[in-house]
Amino acid sequence: MTVHPSGKTGAVTLVGGGPGAPGLLTVAGANALLEADVVLYDRLGPTAHLTTLAPNALLIDVGKLPGNHAVSQCDIEDLIVSHALTGSRVVRLKGGDPYVFGRGSEEVLACHARGIPVSVVSGVTSAISVPAAAGIPLTHRGLSHAFTVISGHAPLTERELEGLVLLGSTIVVLMGVGTLPTLTQGLLRHGMASDLPVAIIERGFSDTQRTTIATLATVLGAAAQASVSSPAVLVVGDVVRLAFTGDESAEDLISQAAQFQATS
Ligand code: SAH
Repeated sequence: MTVHPSGKTGAVTLVGGGPGAPGLLTVAGANALLEADVVLYDRLGPTAHLTTLAPNALLIDVGKLPGNHAVSQCDIEDLIVSHALTGSRVVRLKGGDPYVFGRGSEEVLACHARGIPVSVVSGVTSAISVPAAAGIPLTHRGLSHAFTVISGHAPLTERELEGLVLLGSTIVVLMGVGTLPTLTQGLLRHGMASDLPVAIIERGFSDTQRTTIATLATVLGAAAQASVSSPAVLVVGDVVRLAFTGDESAEDLISQAAQFQATS
């Protein structure tokens, strides 16, 4: 237990901030921010309203260093621990859910190692909410009764690709823009249908949210043409047919993509 000379006990709360929409921050998350002395945040999550959400806190952007370099994970953990050791109530605000590719568990372990009380407030993950913002449910009776969330950070192994194709679930990819070519080629190589719909939803819940719809065979060309960039969530599966994209229905876009595929 860490006690400050003032008698205050330091503690850390990892808060899942959701995908960026202020309404998708949980009540528990908002309460932790309200009581925080220090908030460490980065670029994803509801960062636009932090001064209102955490009115008494020192706000530290760990997505940037003075020289514009990202703070290393090790330095983030040191910052969390050192502020807690001074007796501060520290909130580590993460995008989405802290335990979905957020390195939240590493930060929890760092607190345990120093005997600092730590708790986790789950958040609304972008894996589910960003597709929903584009009208895409991850499950739908008769279309998909499972979904698999994968990180595109490193390419999948052949066995993992094979397993995904065999399972036939909806596939959701985070951090997948850079590895889109290896993923699509891998899935096709293992026999996934080339006309399976794919959606790429960029910057979910922002003013510039955009959905690109294609098929497994056409998505690389579509992504290049649209200059798709991170952050984006990819969805592979028949549920993409349920998307609504404004003027055109997803079904029209998918059949256009399939025709393009057939003639090229
Ligand atoms: N813990 C987070 C994920 C962290 S990994 C969560 O549960 O959502 C970061 C990746 O999340 C990004 O590369 C992107 O794939 C996805 N992401 C997070 N917020 C997003 C948003 N608002 N729009 C699109 N993608 C988002």
